[in-house]
Amino acid sequence: LGPLDKDQMQGLRGIREFLKVRTSYDVLPLSFRLVVLDNDLLIKKSLNIFIQNGIVSAPLWDTRNSNFAGLLTSTDFINVIQYYCQYPDEIGNIDQFRLSSLRDIERAIGVEPLETVSVHPMRPLYEACRRMLKTRARRIPLIDNDDETGREMVVSVITQYRILKFIAVNNEKYTMLLKKPLRELGLGTYTDLATATMGSSVLDVIHLMVKYNISAIPILDQDNKLLNLFEAVDVIPCIKGGAYDELSSPVGDALSKRAEDFAGIYTCSEDDRLDAIFDTIRKSRVHRLVVVDDDNRLKGIISLSDILKYVLLFGEEDDNVRAG
Ligand code: ADP
Repeated sequence: LGPLDKDQMQGLRGIREFLKVRTSYDVLPLSFRLVVLDNDLLIKKSLNIFIQNGIVSAPLWDTRNSNFAGLLTSTDFINVIQYYCQYPDEIGNIDQFRLSSLRDIERAIGVEPLETVSVHPMRPLYEACRRMLKTRARRIPLIDNDDETGREMVVSVITQYRILKFIAVNNEKYTMLLKKPLRELGLGTYTDLATATMGSSVLDVIHLMVKYNISAIPILDQDNKLLNLFEAVDVIPCIKGGAYDELSSPVGDALSKRAEDFAGIYTCSEDDRLDAIFDTIRKSRVHRLVVVDDDNRLKGIISLSDILKYVLLFGEEDDNVRAG
């Protein structure tokens, strides 16, 4: 092993130890706002609430039984769109669907319900991360029990971004050791990439996301140069106000509906290193990085789950083999 490899491993071990001695509770800011939606709310109203509050997910609460009823995310809206595609005559009824009917929609279109894993906020952060990777959950609700009533309590929701940012902010001495170029890490996806062009319809792009089970599609020109990225959250403004018939319009039109404060998309090259990516995560709300070459041609895509997986698991199996 070269000195780069040793440093890299030392950095990863440092971060893993850190995650074992911190809890999900530590990730939460001192004061925060949590939007929880009543499970009886109309789906179309929840869309407006998302847009007005600039959020892309919310825990659901079943008031009748006083319990947590799952997380509402853009996947649910994509399910509603699939339902619309399979049952276009139902368009009049879709307007009247409530959040509590999301499970029926899943059944009608034949998708597996998303596994709702949760963690107790005082459990080690490492455990929350492992659980996220195992279930492919992109966010995990923190559920506590009220001492007096014994009832469930939704404390917050932590996302992969929040965890990686927490790592980045508190572990600069370890992240700066991660100096191996991306091309040597096998981090991210570089083959069989799902892509679209500006002329593809929003529906085409959504179907690609469903087929590949992914949450972003790079939009390329005829030379494979990166123009934009359509993300699962971009479907939210598309169906606002029940505009389902507009889903057949080009994805370029939909991308122009992004909020004014849209941060843009982040790119990197295969020569970049994780230390630089952690710097970016420290400073900006990045949800994935598109890997491009010097001519801005698409090479690959790195999701936050790819980064989390690498940070938690790289080299672990080897250790187990040696230990066992
Ligand atoms: P996350 O799970 O962090 O939300 P994604 O769902 O986008 O991220 O990615 C899941 C996996 O699919 C990752 O390993 C990622 O590298 C890969 N991936 C992401 N986008 C694409 C794409 N457009 N084509 C092929 N693979 C992709």
